[in-house]
Amino acid sequence: MAKSGSARGVRLVCPKCATKFTVVAFVSQTIDAVEYWKARAEEHDCEAHAKLMDSMKNSEGIKNPLKASKAAARGKK
Ligand SMILES: [Zn+2]
Repeated sequence: MAKSGSARGVRLVCPKCATKFTVVAFVSQTIDAVEYWKARAEEHDCEAHAKLMDSMKNSEGIKNPLKASKAAARGKK
């Protein structure tokens, strides 16, 4: 099951802004996974995340983005 070098999704918490995010990466068993994930957590782009959160707040008018895009697709036909 645990093939070395297989893709894994790991939940990380940014040490700077405490955002939980998922990183998918190919991890071989030859590296120190704990140190690797710690380094990846520290790579979190806090500024980009903050901007994303802002833009989500700004689009609060769209309550269900999925439904809205479906409706838009329907309207094209
Ligand atoms: Zn962060």
